[in-house]
Amino acid sequence: MSDCLFCRIIAGEIPSKKVYEDEQTFAFEDINPQAPTHTLIIPKKHIAGLKEAKPEDDALLGHLQLVAAKLARERGIENGYRTVLNVGPGAGQSVFHLHLHLIGGRKLGWPPG
Ligand code: AMP
Ligand code: ZN
Repeated sequence: MSDCLFCRIIAGEIPSKKVYEDEQTFAFEDINPQAPTHTLIIPKKHIAGLKEAKPEDDALLGHLQLVAAKLARERGIENGYRTVLNVGPGAGQSVFHLHLHLIGGRKLGWPPG
C-alpha cells in the first residue's frame, strides 16, 4: 500500500532504525520512545489492525510475539517488558498498519493508561 507509512518503511522509502527483519516481519525503533526499549514489530503484509486480521493470519500474529520475545532476550530486559497492540483510535492506534509495541527497560505501571 503506497500510502501506508509502515509499508513505506518496509520498502525503504522512509528511513527507520531497523533492528530485525525476516521473511514475514520487520522491526524498527519507535520514533517517539516511551521507554529505553520501544520497538515496533510489524508484519510485511499490510493488515490495518487486529480487528482486520483474518483466521489465516494466526501464525503471523504469533510470530510477531515471538520476535518480540527474542528482541527482549537480546536486550536483556526479560525482568519485565510488555507487548502491546493498540486497537482502534479509542485505544490510541494512530497508524493503521498492525504493529506490536515492545516496551521495556524501565518499571512499567499497571493498569496502563
Ligand atoms: P499507535 O499509536 O499504537 O498506532 O503507534 C504508532 C507508533 O508509531 C507511535 O508510537 C509512533 O511514535 C510511531 N511512529 C510514527 N511514525 C513513525 C516513524 N516514521 N518511525 C518510527 N515510529 C513511528
Ligand atoms: Zn501498510
